[in-house]
Amino acid sequence: MTTDEIKKKYLDFFTSSPRDHKQIPSASLVLENDPTTLFTSAGMQPLVPYLLGEPHPLGKRLVNSQPSIRTQDIEEIGDSRHTTYFEMLGNWSLGDYFKKEQIPWIWEFLTEVLALPPKKLYVSVFAGNGDVPRDEESYKIWRKLGVASDHIFAYGEDKNWWSRAGTPAQMPAGEIGGPTSEIFYEFTGVAHNKKFGNECHPNCDCGRFMEIGNSVFMVYKKTNRALEELPNKNVDFGGGLERITAAVNDDPDIFHLPVFGEIVKHIEDLSGKKYGKSEKETQAMRIVADHMRAAVAMAQEGLEPSNKLQGYIMRRLIRRSVVKMNTLMGKTTATDFGKITQTKPILNEVDRFSKTLQKGLREFEKLPKVDGEAAFNLYQTYGFPLELTLELAHEKGQKLDPKDFKEAFKKHQEMSRTQSAGKFKGGLADVGGETTKLHTVTHLLHAALRRVLGNHVSQKGSNITASRLRFDFTHHSPLTSEEIQKVENLINDQIKKSLPVSYAMMSLKEAKAAGALAFFTERYGDKVKVYTIGDDDSWFSREVCGGPHVTNLSEIKGRVKITKEKSASAGVRRVYAKIIT
Ligand SMILES: [Zn+2]
Ligand SMILES: [Zn+2]
Repeated sequence: MTTDEIKKKYLDFFTSSPRDHKQIPSASLVLENDPTTLFTSAGMQPLVPYLLGEPHPLGKRLVNSQPSIRTQDIEEIGDSRHTTYFEMLGNWSLGDYFKKEQIPWIWEFLTEVLALPPKKLYVSVFAGNGDVPRDEESYKIWRKLGVASDHIFAYGEDKNWWSRAGTPAQMPAGEIGGPTSEIFYEFTGVAHNKKFGNECHPNCDCGRFMEIGNSVFMVYKKTNRALEELPNKNVDFGGGLERITAAVNDDPDIFHLPVFGEIVKHIEDLSGKKYGKSEKETQAMRIVADHMRAAVAMAQEGLEPSNKLQGYIMRRLIRRSVVKMNTLMGKTTATDFGKITQTKPILNEVDRFSKTLQKGLREFEKLPKVDGEAAFNLYQTYGFPLELTLELAHEKGQKLDPKDFKEAFKKHQEMSRTQSAGKFKGGLADVGGETTKLHTVTHLLHAALRRVLGNHVSQKGSNITASRLRFDFTHHSPLTSEEIQKVENLINDQIKKSLPVSYAMMSLKEAKAAGALAFFTERYGDKVKVYTIGDDDSWFSREVCGGPHVTNLSEIKGRVKITKEKSASAGVRRVYAKIIT
């Protein structure tokens, strides 16, 4: 079966009776109003406000397939199962069904719809910790479905607990989380490797088992004191589409899937090497195939390689592909990569970097001594893999201890992990904090711009970080300082009035009749959420929206200042604004 066939079966299964889920469109790879992560890494990410209790326009049962990017472990790509870019099948209960529906449904999907043999499936449940008991309920449901007791494993909070921040102790106040129940597939003919431990078990990394799905039961919210049960318990299921397909085909190498087939074939043709022949070359081919697939997906979202945020990740993926192609073919150029993709920003980066790489090789020749730091700098600046540096150092008759390099590397990796963890953890709290305030301010800004400049003003995009908002809108000329002053005054007058912010659910037609602005309506289903700032009969702003909002403008606690105004593109202006307390 192909990934597309399985995706269709999954969506059909969950939208049909008695499951009756509504299919939601997949979100973009870069979330507009979420400064907490660089990329959408799971289907639940755009749903956080709804998991926290806001009603979703499409109801309490949702399903979709979400293109996702995970960048934490780029260095680990190269095995048969990890990829940077993947699609995630997801279904959600927003305070509706729970374990006794979710577990049998996902079991029915895997064993009946996809016909996976039950004896090849293993499951896990939460073993409990000091605060939360063992998940007996899930265990009993699995047993009732006929899963043998020796196919059910219990793991602790490091494996079977989910929250965005990690274990219960790591969760900040306001964070939601709960126990999980995972499903694993056992591949035929893969023996356990003692390198990974004495005993084999579903979470063993030897390759015999692969996790193909995870049901998260969101039961708790962390408060300042402890974990408290949520009034509405949610289910969040996520399953890697490529992995489920690999299980259905009983082939542990996901790079054998047609989604990778063409790109692997190009790499084989260019290098004259054969996939699967040597371990090292196969690994290099997987890295190029994975990284190029991810980079192309990023380019399709309009991203370009750069030194910042998403662009930096894209740059790293492309550069690493160039280095790996170099090891496969000796020397590579943008012309070679033109056989893999026609995407312009990618080919430009390949061109620039392959030249830098040649220059790096010449720099290397000049180095008097190759120590750990120097090797790491070559890696960092020119993307030199350690093996390459070792080989060159060897030619120069120098000894370089790989340990020294690994130490320098670890130091750097820890630094970047801490940074991304900080970004992540600070995040969810933000949904209730600065981001929510700034998002509400975009509504005020939009309404104020229309009053000052005219009704031709319409939103073209927005982007929010914890400290500022960026807002793009149609307008023909730069704003004068008087206009900016007027817009600021108008916004700040509303904040001073402590206007209420409320919402109502209605059809798009009703929303427009009620005077709501609706520029991004394609994202919602047949019902939309309409946010009103002000009283029902004399409102200041009314917009169709799905984002997080304050309930009263007094919560903004400050004054809005426009800090910058410039052109974004032809006929589109861009302003930056922040809240000054
Ligand atoms: Zn094993
Ligand atoms: Zn909004």
